[in-house]
Amino acid sequence: MTAAHAAPLDLANARMKLARDLLLAGALTADELGFALGVQPDSATRIIRELRESGLPVQEWGWDRYHIVYPAGRVCTHVGCGTVLRISNPSDRCTVHGGGDYSDG
Ligand SMILES: [Zn+2]
Repeated sequence: MTAAHAAPLDLANARMKLARDLLLAGALTADELGFALGVQPDSATRIIRELRESGLPVQEWGWDRYHIVYPAGRVCTHVGCGTVLRISNPSDRCTVHGGGDYSDG
């Protein structure tokens, strides 16, 4: 019955993905993130720290808010493209050239 053992980890992973998507979509306080995830604010704060430790650029954003943003003004590295990348795009390429945001995962 490995599924029973995997379930808590799957739930934690699902929470991390949801937290990542929520913080990419907009700036939230730890309270708001916790409410959206169904966890206490201190758990949300821990999730934010874990997202940072995983390498995501979680920025402090206004008053007690957090937002995942990549540097603005980056340009697709594909030769001759010149598309300005979205701040939600972790790649150095646009969606046409193999980059994109996290919307597919
Ligand atoms: Zn491109």
